[in-house]
Amino acid sequence: MAGTEKEVISCAECGSYNREEVGTAVRKAIDALGGITSFINPGSRVLLKPNLLQGLPPERCVTTHPEVVRAVSLICGDLGCRVTIADSPGGGIRYTPANLRRLYAAAGYEAVARDTGAELNYDTGYRIVSHPAGRMVKSFPVIAPALDADHIIVLSKAKTHLWTLYSGGAKNLFGVLPGLEKPLHHARFQDPDHFAGMILDLNDLLRPSLQILDAVMVMEGDGPSSGTPRLLGVVLAGRNATALDLTACRMIGIPPDEVPTLRAARVRGLPGSSPEQVSLVGNPPEALQGDGIRLPSTYRGPGRGMTRSLLLSLLHRLGGVYAPYPSFLPNRCQHCGRCTLICPVAALTLHEGVPELRRETCIRCYCCHEICPAGSIVIRPGPFRRLVARISGLS
Ligand code: SF4
Ligand code: SF4
Repeated sequence: MAGTEKEVISCAECGSYNREEVGTAVRKAIDALGGITSFINPGSRVLLKPNLLQGLPPERCVTTHPEVVRAVSLICGDLGCRVTIADSPGGGIRYTPANLRRLYAAAGYEAVARDTGAELNYDTGYRIVSHPAGRMVKSFPVIAPALDADHIIVLSKAKTHLWTLYSGGAKNLFGVLPGLEKPLHHARFQDPDHFAGMILDLNDLLRPSLQILDAVMVMEGDGPSSGTPRLLGVVLAGRNATALDLTACRMIGIPPDEVPTLRAARVRGLPGSSPEQVSLVGNPPEALQGDGIRLPSTYRGPGRGMTRSLLLSLLHRLGGVYAPYPSFLPNRCQHCGRCTLICPVAALTLHEGVPELRRETCIRCYCCHEICPAGSIVIRPGPFRRLVARISGLS
């Protein structure tokens, strides 16, 4: 970004997932940036990269809503583009055609493809791509459709996240790592700031042409899969993932400085990493900040109050004693074993079908919580944290 040029993010109001309303909002958001041809070429191969995660029904607010995917697919189709919808599901679910078929259908993408002429990706191949300029990572395994496309359009979902506090545009790209490569990368980058550096490298390597953020319903609480949907009522668009995420966090009331990818972007001096580098056009809503979004139960930052925060951040350094661990509700467990499969450090084993945790091994990435289909994993503070919470008045 040269001189005082700003990263432009557009915001279009959208009060529901009504098809017509979403279609209008998405077009409005893109048109406010100069139209779709400012980002992709007519007749090109376009990859739509939604947040598929576990392929849960749209009302759960875990995946990018199919109406958003539909709207972008139609816009690209009108331009004569060959549109493919692809993502590798959240770790623990193997990247196989059978699993993709099931998840696409559950997330509502099968119907989108049928109605709009987009293709659903079933090619589970991937290639290793070298990235000499990467600061944390010099090569990535990337799913084939992301490498074969002329343009990538990221269709992300605005959610809280137990481990990274927020998940939106930049983190969405993690899904182009095939299947179980994701937990392996979690194991490699156990520090959230290192993980964020890896995510920025991946974004730098693939350079999506356009970002659309589904923030009609955002997720609060213990996202990215077990939080609560909440209406924000907007679609955001822009070229720059950092500027998009910064804008979304400020609207939602998530402290940007506490989001590792935004923090890392600022340290790197990336465009769009500070509010004065972002120009917002369109109709921003009344922010949620007044009510205060419910942050994940793992959050310990300044939003909890200065005194408490200082105390808690000091205690956090004791990590192993203080940070919450996953805990298991045997009555709800479906004995599927996904949590053991996703755990990047093999901290879980099944004992008579129910997972058992080796605390000394757990790195508290919360991938098991994210993947559990039965809600049988909860993040509970340990006795020490509960004691501190009582002393500091943190409820
Ligand atoms: S057991 Fe610990 S390390 Fe393993 S997935 Fe769960 S939170 Fe992550
Ligand atoms: S805790 Fe959840 S993910 Fe793990 S085996 Fe039980 S149902 Fe499956």
